[in-house]
Amino acid sequence: ANAWFVVFAGILLGTLLIFIILWQLRRLILNPIGGDPALAIDVVKRIAAGDLAQDGLNAKPDTLMASVLEMRQKLRESIDTLQLNAERMRLSASVFDHAHDGIFITDANANIVEVNYAFTQITGYSREEALGHVPQALGFVTYDDSLLDLLWLQAESNSEWRGETWNRRMNGDVYAAWLDIFCVRDEANHIKNFVGLFSDITQAKEQQQNLERMAYHDPLTQLPNRALLSDRLQQALARAERSGELLAVCCLDLDGFKPVNDTLGHEAGDYLLVQLAVRMSACLRDSDTVARLGGDEFAVLLCGLQSVDECTQTLERLLSVIKTPYSLGDKTVTVSSSIGYTIFPDDGCEPDTLLRHADHAMYQAKLNGGSRVQQFDSHHDRQFRGLRQDRERVEAALPNDEFRLHYQPKVDLRQGKVVGMEALIRWEHPELGLRGPITFLPIIEDTDFSIPLGEWVIREALGQIKIWQAAGLDFQVSVNIAARHIVQSNFTERLILLLAEFPEVEPRKLELEITETAAIEDVSGVANTINSCKQLGVSFALDDFGVGYSSLTYLRRLPVETIKIDQSFVRDMLQDVDDLAVVAGVISLSRDFKRKVVAEGVETSEQGVWLLRMGCSVVQGYGIARPMHADAVLNWVEAYQQDPSWTQGLV
Ligand code: C2E
Ligand code: MG
Ligand code: MG
Repeated sequence: ANAWFVVFAGILLGTLLIFIILWQLRRLILNPIGGDPALAIDVVKRIAAGDLAQDGLNAKPDTLMASVLEMRQKLRESIDTLQLNAERMRLSASVFDHAHDGIFITDANANIVEVNYAFTQITGYSREEALGHVPQALGFVTYDDSLLDLLWLQAESNSEWRGETWNRRMNGDVYAAWLDIFCVRDEANHIKNFVGLFSDITQAKEQQQNLERMAYHDPLTQLPNRALLSDRLQQALARAERSGELLAVCCLDLDGFKPVNDTLGHEAGDYLLVQLAVRMSACLRDSDTVARLGGDEFAVLLCGLQSVDECTQTLERLLSVIKTPYSLGDKTVTVSSSIGYTIFPDDGCEPDTLLRHADHAMYQAKLNGGSRVQQFDSHHDRQFRGLRQDRERVEAALPNDEFRLHYQPKVDLRQGKVVGMEALIRWEHPELGLRGPITFLPIIEDTDFSIPLGEWVIREALGQIKIWQAAGLDFQVSVNIAARHIVQSNFTERLILLLAEFPEVEPRKLELEITETAAIEDVSGVANTINSCKQLGVSFALDDFGVGYSSLTYLRRLPVETIKIDQSFVRDMLQDVDDLAVVAGVISLSRDFKRKVVAEGVETSEQGVWLLRMGCSVVQGYGIARPMHADAVLNWVEAYQQDPSWTQGLV
């Protein structure tokens, strides 16, 4: 039994021991693993196979399993980062490849290590041809060798350089590029690479140059325009001042260009101007300037002249070059030009004034018949400016109320009766006293001031008629009308308005005298005006008949009731048989044309007698009365008695 006990106890102890050993083994082996070894083996196998998927496994901390899972987590994160980086790299590479800007990357010694597609496109060098070379060897910054060195220096100190460069492509063409260079440094701040980015701006530059050209040149002839001319003039003046040489400022205008445009069309005109520009430029030195100011107007600057003669010779040459015929398609045309010039420093004015002086001289050349060269004449210019001042002074007399009307009677010798008054303008000049129309009308005769002045005279005369009518005087008042006034298309309408201001005045009391010495271009237009005014009741006379050049035409075509024989014939008719013949002729013409006739400038009773005998009974002149103030008229008319000797002479 003891033996069985011993065996039993031994077995029990052994089992206990084994149990303890197994229990200890499990603690030593499985605890550090941290879980099911099979699972652990499976996880490790999956990691080895690259499966990093999260599967919700957990492990006790500080166990093998926990480390495996942590390792798996880290691996997954690293791979994600790598993938992200790879994605970024791909993106960068695609930008690098597809960029329109050329890119080169060099090492720290400026040798190219990489270029992009645009680089080869712009420079013409392939990647292989570029690698290992410095950019300068590939045509970068060809015009300044030191620039690239400078550029590296700059890049080194500032880490960046940018600017415009002129480069040369592989085929030799030059191009402009906007170049941007920066350097890449390592952690120790040493330069690792240079990166150059550049774009071809040749086209943009050309466009910019084109724009600049357009701003300073005439698009048709490509000559400098007014803006560039004034620039060049400033420079030329400064140069002339320094060197003491002469500068000629010239204005040139074509004579007879308008007909070319009108008859052959604008295209032909343009073509002529282009040819002209070429000829003019060829005729002058490079240092001179020809500019087109517009239309057929040009300006020329002749620089570095030694004498005025040199200037006139050049301009005469220009004149003859311009005169050479131009062929326009199947037509050949000739134009000439008028050139005005002024010489600096003789004429030491401001640039603008110099041009204006040259322009005045050119205008003078035109007035003198054109096709000539004319120097600016300061004396003439003063006269010209004086005339303008005079004009302004005359014009100011109207608002200043300095004009007056005087009246000169017209009498019928046969009836011994006053038949009318002629209104004659006077200027009561504050300093010079009463002035006759000869002293101021010629100053304004070709200006539009004739129109408001004429209207003032009509209004004033109508007002006077109204006063005389009220005083019981019944005669016609004649008013002189300038040709420039009566050719106005609205003359009749304006006259209607003026008459409307004086409803009590009968229009038949008003006569308008057309001064025949002024040439009337549109005779039929004036004839229409006369007809429509006659409808209103107003009558017309042709003044100063016989001294104009178209007397007979006007007589035939203008439907006037009366003609006035010019005083110059009347004055000498008793001494000069020719004048007498003219007077007799006009009287007989008036009879044939069924017009009334008036003789003016009758100073003596003898003249009156003769006129009466020849059949002209209505006369006007100092022999009857001088023009007088309106207030004097009533008394004069009441006192008027015809000199009996006049009618006695009749028998
Ligand atoms: P007109 O219409 O032929 O006027 C006659 C001119 O001869 C007047 O000169 C008058 O004073 C002058 N006269 C009259 N009788 C005699 C005479 O017996 N002997 C001499 N030697 N001269 C005599 P006035 O007033 O100096 O006018 C000159 C011209 O001015 C006028 O010639 C007329 O053409 C123009 N005129 C006058 N007033 C006006 C006006 O209001 N408007 C316009 N447009 N022209 C006017
Ligand atoms: Mg008159
Ligand atoms: Mg007259």
